[in-house]
Amino acid sequence: MAAMIVDKRDEKIIHLIRPDVQKMQTSHVPPSRGMIKLDARENPYTWPAYLRGEWLEEMQAVSLNRYPDPESTDLKARLRQVFDIPHNMELMLGNGSDELIQIISLAMRGAGRKVLAAVPAFSRFQMISAYAGMEFVGVPLNEEDFSLNMPAMLAAVKQHQPIVTYLASPNNPTGNIYTRDEIAQLLGATHGLVVVDESYFGFSGESMMSQLACYDNLLVMRSLSKMGLAGLRLGYLMGNPRWINQINNLRLPFNINTLTQFTAEFALNYFDVFEEQIEQVRRDRVWVAENISRLKGVEVFPSEANFILFRVAKGRANAVDAALRQKGILLRNLSDESPLLRDCLRVTVGKPSENVAFISALTSSV
Ligand SMILES: *Cc1c(COP(=O)(O)O)cnc(C)c1O
Repeated sequence: MAAMIVDKRDEKIIHLIRPDVQKMQTSHVPPSRGMIKLDARENPYTWPAYLRGEWLEEMQAVSLNRYPDPESTDLKARLRQVFDIPHNMELMLGNGSDELIQIISLAMRGAGRKVLAAVPAFSRFQMISAYAGMEFVGVPLNEEDFSLNMPAMLAAVKQHQPIVTYLASPNNPTGNIYTRDEIAQLLGATHGLVVVDESYFGFSGESMMSQLACYDNLLVMRSLSKMGLAGLRLGYLMGNPRWINQINNLRLPFNINTLTQFTAEFALNYFDVFEEQIEQVRRDRVWVAENISRLKGVEVFPSEANFILFRVAKGRANAVDAALRQKGILLRNLSDESPLLRDCLRVTVGKPSENVAFISALTSSV
């Protein structure tokens, strides 16, 4: 009897939920308890004890009975200051840059409208375009170094007339940056919006932010996740007020909760602590890359981000991934995600001790 009721309910749900949604698959996060977690491009460092203490102390004054400031006024002022955001550019915050991609998609969606990105890319570009009912066009990167295939990109812009083009630089999962010239060429070629995703700008030092005034179809998106605040969920979108004010119409008023506003502002007051952590990761990135490249039959791709992509011997990726997992090390196996990533794994740069454990485990696994 109960089973029958469930069946009927299932049928009703199947009837009512959008058919394209029913076909979607949510990605799952692997269990990581007790593992050395090098799969998610996180900053491995927590806060020094004095900072934690001060944070908890100051947090006592935070009122959770009140709604958050819908404009995140203080936090935005601090972001402008710390990151030198041009005064004539508008700023909008998201619950992670994930949410910004979602809001951009809501603002730009429409019948026949397409989204373009060079692939392999951050999977959310494609996923959220699908949520919004837009067709996603992925143009493969050059196989040898994951640089943009400019003739193919320009041809795709011409053919598909994308309403939005996403360019992540440094790109995830490949780690390389796209040149300013290439981005400029695409900005000139498309009639649509170009969103340059600079989630890893802290690790590369490259940015299109200073170019915002030069183009009327450029937005720059960043995130505090990779520099050490992934759990807070804070992304920011910068650009011409004419763009941002329109897109901002679709933002829910309280998307940035009080604890995030308070904590992010607090953390940005101590930005030098995070800068030191980022510097450490950049230094250790060199060490990890060198040590992977010493292994026979393994190819390392240069990275401007906080992770390193490498290719193991043909057909070995799954076995290497399993062997590392067995030794308590979690990284990301990308071998089946794209023909360009065949036999490729991605490791996040961890603490020195974690990197040593990773290299030692990898050495006995490849
Ligand atoms: C991690 C990542 C994001 C998402 O960042 P959140 O702010 O944590 O949502 C966006 N783009 C790229 C390319 C990323 O790698």
